[in-house]
Amino acid sequence: MSTELKYKGKPACAEKYVPVPEYVVCPGCGKEAELWSDEEQAACACCGGIIGR
Ligand SMILES: [Zn+2]
Repeated sequence: MSTELKYKGKPACAEKYVPVPEYVVCPGCGKEAELWSDEEQAACACCGGIIGR
């Protein structure tokens, strides 16, 4: 992930919010995929399916 590259400097209010990966089971293939807490959906690395929260 490269979310830090979006900003040269972080707002002070954003420092306490650190995205963390959640592991959700892909409905398409049954494998665990990372879904970061600052993203609403992710693509499964295995089958390419979209995983939403
Ligand atoms: Zn999958």
